[in-house]
Amino acid sequence: MDFEHSERARLVMDQVERFVHERVVPNEPTYRDQLQHTDEWRKWRIPPVLEELKAEARGLGLWNLFLPDEQYGAGLDNREYAPIAEITGRSFLAPEVFNCSAPDTGNAEVLVKYGSEDQKRKWLTPLLAGEIRSGFAMTEPGVASSDATNMEATCEVVDDEVVINGLKWWTSGAGDPRCRFLIFMGVTDPDAARHGRHSMVIVPMDAPGVTIVRMVPVLGHLGEPHGHAEIRFEDVRLPLDHFIAGPGRGFEIAQGRLGPGRIHHCMRAIGAAERALERLCERAVARVAFGKPLANLGGNRDIIADCRMAIDQARLLTLKAAWALDTVGTFGALVDISAIKVVAPNVLQRVVDAAIQIHGGEGMADPELNYLMGMARALRLADGPDEVHRAMVARLELEKYLKR
Ligand SMILES: Cc1cc2nc3c(=O)[nH]c(=O)nc-3n(C[C@H](O)[C@H](O)[C@H](O)COP(=O)(O)OP(=O)(O)OC[C@H]3O[C@@H](n4cnc5c(N)ncnc54)[C@H](O)[C@@H]3O)c2cc1C
Repeated sequence: MDFEHSERARLVMDQVERFVHERVVPNEPTYRDQLQHTDEWRKWRIPPVLEELKAEARGLGLWNLFLPDEQYGAGLDNREYAPIAEITGRSFLAPEVFNCSAPDTGNAEVLVKYGSEDQKRKWLTPLLAGEIRSGFAMTEPGVASSDATNMEATCEVVDDEVVINGLKWWTSGAGDPRCRFLIFMGVTDPDAARHGRHSMVIVPMDAPGVTIVRMVPVLGHLGEPHGHAEIRFEDVRLPLDHFIAGPGRGFEIAQGRLGPGRIHHCMRAIGAAERALERLCERAVARVAFGKPLANLGGNRDIIADCRMAIDQARLLTLKAAWALDTVGTFGALVDISAIKVVAPNVLQRVVDAAIQIHGGEGMADPELNYLMGMARALRLADGPDEVHRAMVARLELEKYLKR
């Protein structure tokens, strides 16, 4: 295993770190000020400072860093991009500033790998230019969606069209006024083999029959200006060229999409945990109770040490997963990818919880710590709940014994 950063990665890391430190973090309050806090998601607008920062980052070449294909992105592999994702995880704004935020990243990867030339021209090009955004509509309220074979919404071939029906929810980013298309996953052939029934289809947001029912709150917050939408699809009719790679290939595409996306999520979670630990330590040395800094009271030093050790372990495990993905591919890296998907969000949750605790009542009102807690909690479900990933690790561990 080689975790040495390449020269190219180190160069980009330095530039990204400087930009996040000097331009992104100082502009977080401006972004918050410019954001109109309204539950009426149709009124959501993008804070102008975001587009200004995007233009600056793009001008410096700090753009689409997640894409390993040099034709489309920075040409960094997972090992090289992982530490950059960690840096961007320190700011809620940074991933989008570098055009590296989910779910666009996963959707772009799908289009690069499986999209037709026409699909790339129409959807990938503006996505990679940061002009539009996108969503991924898989989860359904009616079925246990942690098992993706349960998905019941349909995308059937009728003559020369694909006809889409069903109800989806948790489609992240669909409330963003710039969201122009969704990648929809549904059943095309219910009689096919279990992993050959589903397809992925590009659905323009303005296609007749697509209705956003509401934005689903995360711990009471709608997450403006992006949101997580519940969407009804009613007889949405599209030409057959809206299938990605053709009917029945949904699972094959989903497998390819999830490996890198999980590394990105986990490294961002580690960056976020570093930020939370920083906040914890700053508070621990600055505030005094019972005649001592909080750091010197009770078990607070142990808490700090445990957080540091947990973050460093999570980082090493995630880098190992990135290395495995680069060297043996998704199927060879299944255990590592599932393992980090459990470890990193739980570490983030634990560190943020400790940071909130040391801030006392103020911790419950701190926008940054609140955001990080929501992020940690949601990540334990999004892209598969902890339990599903534990089940994967256990299955592959036991296979060694059952094969004997
Ligand atoms: C903030 C947020 C953003 C999201 N963004 C998207 C998105 O953009 N697009 C999208 O399609 N989806 C998205 N999701 C949905 C997410 O992927 C699903 O919530 C998740 O896969 C679980 O599906 P479910 O909610 O139907 O839970 P269920 O499948 O009903 O599972 C509920 C619980 O059952 C238990 N469970 C399930 N399987 C097992 C098992 N094998 N062993 C033990 N226990 C088990 C777990 O405790 C699990 O949490 C998002 C979710 C959140 C919270």
